[in-house]
Amino acid sequence: MAMADAPDTDTEAQGALIAEVLTPVALDQCYSYAVPDHLDLAPGCVVQAPFGPRETVGVVWELRRGAAGSNLKKITAKIACPPLSNNLRKLVDWVARYTLAPKGMVLRMALRAPDPDASPERITTGVRLSGPPPSRMTPARQRVLAAAEGGFALPKRALADAAAVSVGVIDGLVDEGTLETVGIPPPPIAPRPDPDHQHPVLEAGQADAAQILRDAVLAKTFSVTLLEGVTGSGKTEVYFEAVAEAIRLGRQTLIMLPEIALTAQFLQRFEQRFGVRPAEWHSGATGRRRERTHAAVASGEALVVAGARSALFLPFRDLGLVVVDEEHEHAFKQEDGVHYHARDMAVVRGRIEGAPVVLASATPSIESRVNAQLGRYGHVRLPERFGGRAMPDLAAIDMRRDGPPRGSWLSPRLVTAVRETLERGEQSLLYLNRRGYAPLTLCNACGHRFQCPNCTAWLVEHRFRRALVCHHCGHVERRPDACPSCGALDCLAACGPGVERLAEEVAETFPGARALVLSSDFPGGTERLKRELEAVAEGEFQIVIGTQLVAKGHNFPMLSLVGVVDADLGLASGDPRAGERTFQILQQVTGRAGRGATSGRALLQSFQPDHPVLKALLSGDAERFYKEEIAMRQAAGLPPFGRLAAIVVSADERGPAETHARALARCAPRHPDVMVLGPAEAPIAVVRGRHRFRLLVKTAREFPLQDWLRHWLREAPKTTGNTRVQVDVDPMSF
Ligand code: ADP
Ligand code: ZN
Repeated sequence: MAMADAPDTDTEAQGALIAEVLTPVALDQCYSYAVPDHLDLAPGCVVQAPFGPRETVGVVWELRRGAAGSNLKKITAKIACPPLSNNLRKLVDWVARYTLAPKGMVLRMALRAPDPDASPERITTGVRLSGPPPSRMTPARQRVLAAAEGGFALPKRALADAAAVSVGVIDGLVDEGTLETVGIPPPPIAPRPDPDHQHPVLEAGQADAAQILRDAVLAKTFSVTLLEGVTGSGKTEVYFEAVAEAIRLGRQTLIMLPEIALTAQFLQRFEQRFGVRPAEWHSGATGRRRERTHAAVASGEALVVAGARSALFLPFRDLGLVVVDEEHEHAFKQEDGVHYHARDMAVVRGRIEGAPVVLASATPSIESRVNAQLGRYGHVRLPERFGGRAMPDLAAIDMRRDGPPRGSWLSPRLVTAVRETLERGEQSLLYLNRRGYAPLTLCNACGHRFQCPNCTAWLVEHRFRRALVCHHCGHVERRPDACPSCGALDCLAACGPGVERLAEEVAETFPGARALVLSSDFPGGTERLKRELEAVAEGEFQIVIGTQLVAKGHNFPMLSLVGVVDADLGLASGDPRAGERTFQILQQVTGRAGRGATSGRALLQSFQPDHPVLKALLSGDAERFYKEEIAMRQAAGLPPFGRLAAIVVSADERGPAETHARALARCAPRHPDVMVLGPAEAPIAVVRGRHRFRLLVKTAREFPLQDWLRHWLREAPKTTGNTRVQVDVDPMSF
């Protein structure tokens, strides 16, 4: 018998080749497709396939043999891009299972969004000025010529955007020969960092810490180490040594930063240490640059990537180290779409890749602290500042006794301290975590308060913009001259301080001082902020007034005084994490003082200087804070000693949201290890016009929370109309 006959019967027995394809949409399951014979597919391949009335991009999650029914649709094509690695598919599966987000939505974060401008021919060609001016001139054409003036080749679309014309106008000019089509060289590939470009000489404690981290890299296996060091202790220098080791091995490093847009200083420091900048990744990056970085990470050419949350899903070829800097930062938690904590998922990625993970912080999260205490994580400490520099002197100003006169916010002692700092030619930072002019505006005549039409929130006056703004939904309205309720003129009063109002007081109290307000909501965006932060670091300003964003990781060498205008601000909320959050932010912000040559001090204005959080801060006894906070969490069965999930039911009307939330609560499966609390109105009951009710699920630590949730929600009544249910495992506020 001819050999060729045998496989025939075999194929019949095995059936046709079927691909289970996951698409990047909000669906949890894969869809089956027949694989045409000419396509050579493997799991992870990116393919195009019919999906409803259209075509979609998807990833082959699995290949199997089976009976292909006649109605099974066929995969259309294989897309020429690197397949999603086994590890990345594992990560997607893991994150979806943990967060209960539809798998397709998690995939969307891992699959580079197809960028229409990045199709191959557009990537490599552009147009530039060449021939004579066109025979017929129009305003649109004039704008194109002006935009193309520099003589550089630009992609058609970019030029069209720059000149605010359609691509058709560009095509017309190409036809006439005014513009010519040329190839654009690809942007430079990620240059290789030099591990020995410029070594700091480490102090003994730093060197010991660095050795432990280097050993973790050399071990080439999964481990987690908490690098805890006071502000200015040299944590960055220390973990850079581990990065250097990974570079020497030719392996890749992912450095996760809480806010990539504000990390100009970090990039500079990296460049000083390694001679080149790392590859950067954040959701703001677009087009070709994003494509190039993605490809360079996949090929292994980009050895070090610094990125925000989304960098977690990059296709590293050989990940040798993951660093999460400022690991305690709440910005690592994504609060929409897929609700995931990038620090926790970084640990998961490390485990999947068999790579060591370093979590760095001056004020670790309670979760990481407990993990270190229980020996699940290694714990490396830098208890002292570099160069024998002292920690700033902290003192409270008791506002009950020593507060300022009514209507002002700076106490006499703080004013004196700022004046002394000015006289010494040093910088002061006044910290107030309240954007805008005043947190509440009301009418003196009738008591009318300005409330957001979409949210349960007061409108915040922004005087620079002459507007009233909602900080939850972004609603903006003009600040009226007359009260909309009683019609009285010039009657609007600002209640409480925001940074803009504080700036007024500073200008009156210290005339002639160069002062700057740093707030994330000023026009000019991150570019302006970057410039301003640099100017502050260079000593351009004598008094800086800032919100939370000044607290994070910046190094201001001239800064010697920090005044916390309202140290009680974060403590008032009912959130059990309020203590931790306030401790962290105040420790960070006071730690900005005295990082340069001068020693620093910090003054905290408070109406309750005996509050345990403030006491621990003032005594410099972080250990005491952690001990008390951990004991409290343990007693209450709160994370990390118990597990929590929040279920938020929202709808355009209050009634349906509440009804559905109650229905959910009623059908929750009973279990002795599970407590279902609520429903209650969410802390901010209405956001963007959506009414929100919240259920909290609290379980023992070992309880299979996700399985229970999945079972519950599967059996629960379906939502109707515009009602939506969102699950947040490990919510940040509860
Ligand atoms: P942290 O991240 O713990 O706040 P950094 O790594 O930013 O600390 O270090 C604080 C400052 O001290 C930085 O300017 C850093 O360059 C400097 N520094 C730390 N260690 C050394 C060292 N061994 N040699 C020289 N400069 C150092
Ligand atoms: Zn609003």
